[in-house]
Amino acid sequence: MKFEYWEPDSIPAAMALLERYRERAKILAGGTDLVVQMRRGIMRPDGVIHIGRIPELKGILPKVEGGIRIGTLTTMREIEKSEILQSGFDILCQGAAQVSCPQIRNVATLGGNTCNGVPSADTVPALMALGAEAILMSPAGERSVPLEKFHNGPGRTILKGDEMLLRFKIPAPPPFTGGCYLKYTPRGTFELAIVGVAALITLNPRDGLCENARLILGACGPTPLRVKNAESILLGKRRDKSLFARAAEIAAGEAKPNPGVSVRASAPYRREMVRVWSRYALEKAWQKAEAGLDLSSKFEVNKAGNA
Ligand SMILES: Cc1cc2nc3c(=O)[nH]c(=O)nc-3n(C[C@H](O)[C@H](O)[C@H](O)COP(=O)(O)OP(=O)(O)OC[C@H]3O[C@@H](n4cnc5c(N)ncnc54)[C@H](O)[C@@H]3O)c2cc1C
Repeated sequence: MKFEYWEPDSIPAAMALLERYRERAKILAGGTDLVVQMRRGIMRPDGVIHIGRIPELKGILPKVEGGIRIGTLTTMREIEKSEILQSGFDILCQGAAQVSCPQIRNVATLGGNTCNGVPSADTVPALMALGAEAILMSPAGERSVPLEKFHNGPGRTILKGDEMLLRFKIPAPPPFTGGCYLKYTPRGTFELAIVGVAALITLNPRDGLCENARLILGACGPTPLRVKNAESILLGKRRDKSLFARAAEIAAGEAKPNPGVSVRASAPYRREMVRVWSRYALEKAWQKAEAGLDLSSKFEVNKAGNA
């Protein structure tokens, strides 16, 4: 059978192709995952639908429905450099900045990083920490899925055969929120994460106690993992190193690294790095949230909250 390449210039045109070919066709965004998989023979679609010419799928829109909207085709480089995201959503910039090298970041998209479904994807923990929702479209219409429920297993997502990711919707973080994404690799960003940790902390401006916490682990299980038990022990507490150590201990205990042989790192090693990295990430996120409690920077933080 002849291999097909389509380049629709609108969402309805892409939808018509997806409805007709379903799983036989793959969506092509930046191609940094898909083309590699096709070259290796892991993926053998009958054709690809390149969505790069659909303008509605691109860009970052502030002040939409109490938050921001990021099109699926927005590249890692655009996210890393975005001024809109720097205020309040910078944990996502940190994630994007740690994807490989500038050449890859110039073409790799946020949507592709999510839809590819690997547990080491650097932007997914940050999106989950921010409470992002994925807006999907199929011939039956649009639906919205919290990112926390998007991944089913390594390389598997809830996307149906005729469905496409359009954009992400991210609520504006409350004032006095700080975030930190840390990626652990022995050789810098060029490698996939051995462990990725996203921490987001919101403090109560009246007493400085922790009002909300999110801790998400990447590359530590079949899907990115939210550690709710570690989050809950932080609530209502004041900053304290032993508190971070306890939360990190819980995170290490709940991490589910693959016990099989891995070329990148053994399960015990990953668990140990979760312990270390979670502690650092929580402390850093807390410090950032606290910086907002300083009256001199209150205005900036409020601006972030209302972005
Ligand atoms: C050398 C190299 C280094 C890398 N390093 C890193 C790294 O450090 N960290 C990291 O996280 N990743 C890394 N990656 C992986 C990759 O760059 C990212 O996952 C990237 O964000 C994928 O985006 P893309 O636009 O290239 O996706 P594509 O390759 O175009 O697509 C990936 C998958 O998502 C599907 N898809 C894409 N868009 C949609 C959509 N809108 N709706 C439905 N399905 C869709 C495709 O069908 C495909 O299955 C690396 C890749 C390479 C080649």
